[in-house]
Amino acid sequence: MDLSPSSPRIAVVGAGIAGLAAAHRMVELGHGGGLVLLERASRLGGVLSTVHEHGFQVEQSADNFITTVPYGLDLCRRLGLSEGLIQTDPRYRQTYVVHRGRLHKLPDGFLMMAPTRMWPLALTPILSPWGKLRAGLEYFIPPSTSDADESMASFVRRRLGREAFDRLVEPLVSAVYAADMERLSVDATLSRFRDMEREHGSLVRAMRVEMAARRRAKQQAETQSGARYSMFVTLRDGIQSLVDALASRLPAGSVRLDSPVTHIRRASDGRWSLELGARAETFDRVILATPSYVAAELLAPVDPPLGERLARIEHSGTAIVSLGFDRGQIGHPMRGAGAVVPGVEKSPILAISFSSHKYPHRAPEGKAILRVFVGGARAPEMAEMPDERLLPLVLGEVRRLLRITGEPVYASVAHWPRTMPQYHVGHKRLVAQIEARVAELPGLELAGNAYHGVGIPDCIHGGEQAAERALANQ
Ligand SMILES: Cc1cc2nc3c(=O)[nH]c(=O)nc-3n(C[C@H](O)[C@H](O)[C@H](O)COP(=O)(O)OP(=O)(O)OC[C@H]3O[C@@H](n4cnc5c(N)ncnc54)[C@H](O)[C@@H]3O)c2cc1C
Repeated sequence: MDLSPSSPRIAVVGAGIAGLAAAHRMVELGHGGGLVLLERASRLGGVLSTVHEHGFQVEQSADNFITTVPYGLDLCRRLGLSEGLIQTDPRYRQTYVVHRGRLHKLPDGFLMMAPTRMWPLALTPILSPWGKLRAGLEYFIPPSTSDADESMASFVRRRLGREAFDRLVEPLVSAVYAADMERLSVDATLSRFRDMEREHGSLVRAMRVEMAARRRAKQQAETQSGARYSMFVTLRDGIQSLVDALASRLPAGSVRLDSPVTHIRRASDGRWSLELGARAETFDRVILATPSYVAAELLAPVDPPLGERLARIEHSGTAIVSLGFDRGQIGHPMRGAGAVVPGVEKSPILAISFSSHKYPHRAPEGKAILRVFVGGARAPEMAEMPDERLLPLVLGEVRRLLRITGEPVYASVAHWPRTMPQYHVGHKRLVAQIEARVAELPGLELAGNAYHGVGIPDCIHGGEQAAERALANQ
């Protein structure tokens, strides 16, 4: 560790996963000596939080992370957490979609917004004959010749038709981004589908090529040794254990809880003065890993156009209702990972995750825990609805969908207002403009879920890159 008096003083502001990953990267690179991690709350982890109650492991926000973006797995390996990684139960990888108040299996091979197999699509009761025909015509629809960004709704309706959008794609994408599909940017979220359209002329055609490549890669991997993971993994002791492992690697005294940064100033010597209540402290570099609207307020006095651009990134909120039941109370067989609910169903909920089916260790023997998502851009008021109103509303809907009898043996609500940045059409250009202005302010870096991806692996990567840039520009 570099403890020399000349080592730069670096403040990381915000100890969500992005800020923790930034701080940890600095330690890995031997610069823990000058590090101070400032967190407004009295705990680390930001939105990430696991609680253990009544025998249930309850993930209060994120409950797993994707493995096709490598940064989550990679960090777990470096932290010695690989042994604790758990794959989704292969028996329960199917997703249900609610259609006219009942759960139906998503057609086999339908991946987020593209069918890889036509027969399951032809046989699904979720689409009308016309809806199926229109989705099947995707193969023949010419690709767009425009390079401009496009909303998710416009892209999917153009390729697959209105019904496939309303009934299949909208609920799947809503469950991930909690966003308004008429405004969500394809380029900033699922750009690989735009690339498929450009390269192959059709999503169906592109998916066929991709599936063949995946099968080859799988065969190759099977002949090699080494762990392979399901598309999503979690940690046996909960997502919180990633936060705890990162915290345990930080130098003693470097973490300050209950320390909100209230103002930032640029001193005449180019260093950064951070106000922490009544005191101010000076740093050579600052990594702002707060939500972007906090960064907007802090940076507006330093660079008003930067503050204005950061403030343009809107956020939606969600709440997660966790419900535990005896298995005997649940009439539905729940042979899947969860169910998503299309907006056209006019349901109060966005999705249900069959949390202890995906990862059985989360519930005691004979019991099940469900996580119900509400709110998002579809019903923003629900993110902050008082529990006494929210719980009966959610419980009524879940009882109806899953044929549940009696009262839950466990219930809790986690509210997450203003936590999901909305990547609206033009988001990539906006972030490029923000980063160009930040580059004009030496010693300042931004990290967090507002910029290059909301998932845990992307936030880790953003934090680590910010740390590397901060150390490179010495
Ligand atoms: C309900 C929900 C479910 C999700 N599910 C998944 C999932 O299953 N898989 C997945 O990969 N991702 C999921 N995500 C997304 C992912 O969890 C988040 O995008 C990510 O954890 C955000 O990390 P962050 O560090 O950018 O921000 P945050 O976690 O918001 O951290 C920011 C930190 O900054 C602090 N702060 C704010 N202002 C100040 C200040 N002035 N001074 C000091 N500190 C300050 C805050 O207190 C906070 O600790 C989910 C998110 C939510 C909300």
